[in-house]
Amino acid sequence: MVTHNNVPLSRILYYKIGGKARWLLDATTVDDVFEAISFIQRNKIQRYFIIGLGTNLASRKTDIHLTSDGLITAFAGQTLDDLMQFSFEHDLIGLENLGGLPSTIGGAIRGNAGAFGVEMEDVLVKVSVVEILRDSYTTREMTNEECQFSYRNSIFKQNPKLIVLKGFFHLESGTRDEVLAAKQVYKEMIKYRKRYHPIEYPSCGSVFKNIREKKYVEKIISVWPDIEGKVKNDWHGKVSMGYVIKRLGFSGTQVGGAKITDKHANYICNVDHAKASDVKMIIDEIEKKFKDTFGFSPELEAEIVMH
Ligand SMILES: Cc1cc2nc3c(=O)[nH]c(=O)nc-3n(C[C@H](O)[C@H](O)[C@H](O)COP(=O)(O)OP(=O)(O)OC[C@H]3O[C@@H](n4cnc5c(N)ncnc54)[C@H](O)[C@@H]3O)c2cc1C
Repeated sequence: MVTHNNVPLSRILYYKIGGKARWLLDATTVDDVFEAISFIQRNKIQRYFIIGLGTNLASRKTDIHLTSDGLITAFAGQTLDDLMQFSFEHDLIGLENLGGLPSTIGGAIRGNAGAFGVEMEDVLVKVSVVEILRDSYTTREMTNEECQFSYRNSIFKQNPKLIVLKGFFHLESGTRDEVLAAKQVYKEMIKYRKRYHPIEYPSCGSVFKNIREKKYVEKIISVWPDIEGKVKNDWHGKVSMGYVIKRLGFSGTQVGGAKITDKHANYICNVDHAKASDVKMIIDEIEKKFKDTFGFSPELEAEIVMH
């Protein structure tokens, strides 16, 4: 484990926003994670936060391999892209729809990340975790079921004392043609994201969760009856928050250095040295207008960590 002191988080986080961290503990292996927990406990650090993708900037070791029973196992700090590349190299398919999704494996499992119909819960068999106790820690394996996955949610969101160390994934074996087709899908997904998502700016991806719950979908349709067809045909029963935020008039809204661009209204981009408070102000404005319009609050997908 490498220890850094007084680190401006804006330098390492994907969003390029953030204050200073007193300590940054760079864990590139499972043993590093244990060492980091001991450091936190020894120094009686009250407030700590696990960073997924930001740690990419530090030196990275590769810890990803096939188990004897054909599962892919990978350290939580590896990226989803590492997992996809490894799967292609071993003629395994099923993750290609996630092409271009920026995430570590740990972060993706915690948030049950997904795109275009594939979520972590579909491919994850089990995880190895460490649970932080008062003055020590313990490790164990948890099955997919024990992870309690639902839309962008898992037990790890409810219990921050649980840290994902490794994921074990089951993917389908593909013929040569199937693997070639999967690689093509992977490339198309990256192209799609470049075209329709404002990835030219730092962001945290979608800020709000799409609306899925039937009673809420119906509430929105009762206010905007003209979207009923879109809900059925284009959004698979959900309501797209990108569409809603745009229709509520937020495209182009800018507060400080944070902006909603025309490309995708559910992204709040850091266009010019944005502060967390700039982002928060736009979020508050959207929440207010949404609630005034539909009578309930949308759920955040992004996490706001304020000091
Ligand atoms: C351009 C862009 C596009 C995106 N598109 C999508 C998309 O299509 N679908 C989607 O689902 N998401 C998407 N996202 C959101 C983001 O990629 C996911 O939420 C991702 O899974 C976060 O992973 P991370 O490694 O960056 O975690 P971080 O953002 O660093 O952390 C997220 C949370 O996970 C916790 N965490 C991290 N590692 C662990 C661990 N090992 N154990 C326990 N907790 C941990 C952190 O403490 C934090 O609470 C997008 C984001 C961006 C910037």
